[in-house]
Amino acid sequence: MTSKTNKKPQNIYHDRALETMPRKQLEKLQDQLLRKLQTVSLQSNPFYRAKFKAAGIRKPIPWSRLSDLPFTTKSELMADQLAHPPFGSDLAFPVADYTRMHQTSGTTGAPVRWLDTAESWSNFVEQWCFVYRGAGITRGDRVFAAFSFGPFSGFWTGFEASYRIGSLAITGGGQTSEQRIATMQATQPTVLICTPTYALRLAEVAGTMGVDPAKLGLRASIHAGEPGAGIPSTRRKIEQTWGVRAYDHCGMTEMGAVGFECQHQLGPHVNEAHFILEVIDPKTGKKVDEGERGEVVLTNLRRAGSPLIRYRTGDLAEATYTRCSCRRTFALLRGGLLGRADDMITIRGINVFPAAIENILRQFPEIVEFQGEVTREREMAELILHLETDRLKDAQLPAFAEKVISALHVSLNLRPAVKFAASGTLPRAEMKSRRFRVTPAKS
Ligand SMILES: [Zn+2]
Repeated sequence: MTSKTNKKPQNIYHDRALETMPRKQLEKLQDQLLRKLQTVSLQSNPFYRAKFKAAGIRKPIPWSRLSDLPFTTKSELMADQLAHPPFGSDLAFPVADYTRMHQTSGTTGAPVRWLDTAESWSNFVEQWCFVYRGAGITRGDRVFAAFSFGPFSGFWTGFEASYRIGSLAITGGGQTSEQRIATMQATQPTVLICTPTYALRLAEVAGTMGVDPAKLGLRASIHAGEPGAGIPSTRRKIEQTWGVRAYDHCGMTEMGAVGFECQHQLGPHVNEAHFILEVIDPKTGKKVDEGERGEVVLTNLRRAGSPLIRYRTGDLAEATYTRCSCRRTFALLRGGLLGRADDMITIRGINVFPAAIENILRQFPEIVEFQGEVTREREMAELILHLETDRLKDAQLPAFAEKVISALHVSLNLRPAVKFAASGTLPRAEMKSRRFRVTPAKS
């Protein structure tokens, strides 16, 4: 039994009119916002003025011709910041008009700095209000942000939105994991926001302090930064450990708080009142059919100070557009983000995403943490899984390794090598974890 209260949430929408708007009307709204965004960008944004000029675009084009606009990539943003330090040239206004600076976590290269005007930032915070309402969080809830409040955009907007919706915001910044558990015991939050990896780490620390996380009184958790909450067995593990319903949220520093889950938890709805979603074939750049897997491309419509137009996120997803049982018309990324195009690893001719491996490993309660290493020997890639376990005696390890290998073989046709790591030796990140690394070929 868990301590979750199961009370029916009163407010499941942040903006019912927007969230349940017929799609034709939604397209009209996107068209208006897109034209406005292009007008500002053509007038005063050096980055987009140059891009549009190169693509022969001199005046705003309608929503129906969106695919005429050029894509924007992360490497373009990185190159632009190098050429125009320190903030780059994707700015529609003089720097004096901006009031916030954050940066990306730098997991896929050098961190990119991102400036927001008061209005852009406010809209980013607004997007998180949809995230909370989707999860049924409201006035009377207490939201604990287990986050360092460093330069990464991370949960800053989530924190601000928690008091915008009337909840009590409790910071976990500048605290060790032990202090965070102590704060939670003292202040009794009902909601936890952090990365999925850190939720598991924090539960582990609670255990060492003799505290059962499921008895802390939380009823929901919201996770971002990694796909974890969208991976079924990771979600289950978080829910069982903490006694919560764990909601997946997808967002990006440079884009905003894009997707949020409703009570049906089928994957994130994309907030299409703030973003235009496209799903494309990463090779051809052409739109894929509804429900087909492709790369997520986004345009943020309400962050005109530092916009991104047709931004290739590198994330893979399958989008459906039929009205959800929650009545929302917003697109649904069924099953969450399914991996990143550049994350795929190939082991002896088998293509596999780290998330699929994680989904299998998290089914074993004995596995506390893990790391994957891909080595290349004589042109052949081999996968080594480093596992940190508890509850197992040394003599039990070989049989357990066989069990894990067999589960991976049945589901994914993989036969990795398994090595056991000493307790507490594998890295646990508060922000994005990189659980798979590729080591270069030995010469
Ligand atoms: Zn829904």
